[in-house]
Amino acid sequence: MTNRREWLKKARKALTDAEYLSHICNSFARCNCEQGGILGFGSSPVFIRDASPLFSGYSEYVPNIDYLNHVVHDWRQAGIRFCGFVHTHPNGEKSLSELDIDYAREILPHFHSSAIFMFVVAFSEDIKSIFCYLVTRNNIESIGEGHFQIE
Ligand SMILES: [Zn+2]
Repeated sequence: MTNRREWLKKARKALTDAEYLSHICNSFARCNCEQGGILGFGSSPVFIRDASPLFSGYSEYVPNIDYLNHVVHDWRQAGIRFCGFVHTHPNGEKSLSELDIDYAREILPHFHSSAIFMFVVAFSEDIKSIFCYLVTRNNIESIGEGHFQIE
């Protein structure tokens, strides 16, 4: 995927799919630790939670790269393309941190990609929100959000 229009087309497909966004949100239990997962696109958007992170603290999450690489490999066999990350912000912060942005930009060349999705799931008292960004080498674009009641 090389051009912005293609990315935004995919984004629109994912972001108008409330079931997809609520599925992502509900995969993360509220806890005082950062959690994460990866996003892919085949004929429809897909998501896998990183169930065994190497570290998960209040403001840091270290993904299980080996596991996620396996998922990306399996996705590729199935015609699904990796297209980004999602992680939680237990403190409710909706924006990407500098570290999040640096991380996203470091990943870009590995996937021969000009852009990557970064979704943030933020918790408040009784609402889980998801904030969706498209990160490129020199731009961060907010592309949508969803809000779901915590059951
Ligand atoms: Zn973050």
